[in-house]
Amino acid sequence: MKYAIALDVGGTSMKAALVGTDGTVLHRSERPTRRERGPEAVVGSILDFAADLGEEGLGRYGVPAASAGVVVPGVVDAGGGTAVYAANLGWRDVPLRALLAARLSPSDGSRLPVALGHDVHAGGLAESRIGAGGGVDRSLFLALGTGIAGAIGIDGRTEVGAHGAAGEIGHIVVRPDGPRCGCGRDGCLETVASASAVSRAWAAACGDPEADAADCARAVESGDARALAVWQQAVDALADGLVTAVTLLDPRVVIIGGGLAKAGDTLLAPLRSAVLRRITFQRTPHIVPAALGDIAGCLGAALLAWDLLATEVPN
Ligand SMILES: [Zn+2]
Repeated sequence: MKYAIALDVGGTSMKAALVGTDGTVLHRSERPTRRERGPEAVVGSILDFAADLGEEGLGRYGVPAASAGVVVPGVVDAGGGTAVYAANLGWRDVPLRALLAARLSPSDGSRLPVALGHDVHAGGLAESRIGAGGGVDRSLFLALGTGIAGAIGIDGRTEVGAHGAAGEIGHIVVRPDGPRCGCGRDGCLETVASASAVSRAWAAACGDPEADAADCARAVESGDARALAVWQQAVDALADGLVTAVTLLDPRVVIIGGGLAKAGDTLLAPLRSAVLRRITFQRTPHIVPAALGDIAGCLGAALLAWDLLATEVPN
């Protein structure tokens, strides 16, 4: 039985799985990240979790994992195996791949191959290859959550850019006079169209500080005019950002994931219309919902692990 250890580290929780060579999830587990303990404690928890998964696999299948894939948020140097920077986890230049390889490698002296990647890039990889994209040659994945991040899919891999920073569609400026973004500029796409942005706008419009984007979507579905106005602002901004990306990348499929995508056609139907209104010469991509849910990042980590094994020279 050949399996990989897969781990998706988020700001709130860490999702893990043992995954077969065909992408089958054999075992799933989740633990809180508890980032308030500081970056060193979080790194320790990642190593412990990965080691426990290794033990789980060894107990189940009698053989150690064939490889491991770990994906993290922020800026990742996949080639160097370093988690360079993550604002929400407070770490800088953590040599995560070397730490994991040291912790996970069997005691017989052999070395477990470990792949390190970016969480949204990995989620997009899984969606384009084995999820909503179904193996499509050119895709663009958008995760609409606290912020907005993207992944550019090309022939079964993710274009990460020269510095690992490709796909940051959330920081395309769509409303130059809009709210200040965490990156320092005004009116970035994620300040208007992320799940958090819609939550803020709907809370202000309806007067309930606890109201969120899911409440807004439900109000849209019941025909609430104030909700429709809030929703359309986000949809229009999203279409502006998306058409910029489509003009540059010409994707065949655009896959929409993240918390806001749970609204389904309440989001996708007006988004398709808004994109169509803006398209002139460009070819319109298929805009589809993500299919893998919150296991996408973990599956992407497993794909990175299997890809790494496929490129390693057998010894
Ligand atoms: Zn920004």
